[in-house]
Amino acid sequence: MSAIATHLHDVRRQIHDAALRAGRAPADVQLLAVSKTFGADAVREAIDAGQHAFGENYVNEAIDKITALHTWRDGLEWHFIGPLQSNKTRLVAEHFDWVHSVDRAKIAERLSAQRPAECAPLQVCLQVNISNEASKSGVAPADVPALARQIATLPRLRLRGLMAIPAPTGNIQAQRVPFRALRELWQALRDDGLPLDTLSMGMSADLEAAIAEGATIVRVGTAIFGARPPHGTQAAAQETIS
Ligand SMILES: *Cc1c(COP(=O)(O)O)cnc(C)c1O
Repeated sequence: MSAIATHLHDVRRQIHDAALRAGRAPADVQLLAVSKTFGADAVREAIDAGQHAFGENYVNEAIDKITALHTWRDGLEWHFIGPLQSNKTRLVAEHFDWVHSVDRAKIAERLSAQRPAECAPLQVCLQVNISNEASKSGVAPADVPALARQIATLPRLRLRGLMAIPAPTGNIQAQRVPFRALRELWQALRDDGLPLDTLSMGMSADLEAAIAEGATIVRVGTAIFGARPPHGTQAAAQETIS
């Protein structure tokens, strides 16, 4: 087995065990493999190990991979999970299946208008700034209900749920607090009639806490592909200037 296949196997086992411990069906937690900064070869290895859903943060880098792998394997699913500026919405609307990082009406409207007619509706999550961090993207919790209602009316989007990246904390009990807050916000929207089925929360370091609080998609990079180059190098830098 390749290193990536071994890591994928371990992460799937971790998800499975965390779901059982939480009294949940393991099949109700999907694994999104976050392949940002890694090349098409690494993604191919993951595909060979049975993975089909991939998360990407940098538009140009992602489209190179999507294009390279398009003819190689059908049925792949591409999720955009990074900060999205309005000058990149068309590329995202044209190449991705999901966007987890929608946090304002203008971006949502552009994605809906730019989604090609021959594609299925773009599946979206609202990104919530659940830890109220000044530096973080995401809509403030208090503004979620109004924005969710607005996005739910856009014809070429399908609002699936909420996403968050909480501030890192040490232990599992502390990690659960913001995930629980996100789930409660999500549940309130559902109680209010929005047909949401997705809670995108949990990464390599906190997926167990996220699953305990109801995550339906965990986004895992490092635990599958290994450590990434430090922020601001290579892909990230290129993306900023392009
Ligand atoms: C990079 C990234 C991940 C993966 O994080 P790891 O700690 O490497 O598992 C998940 N979600 C988002 C939004 C990311 O940008």
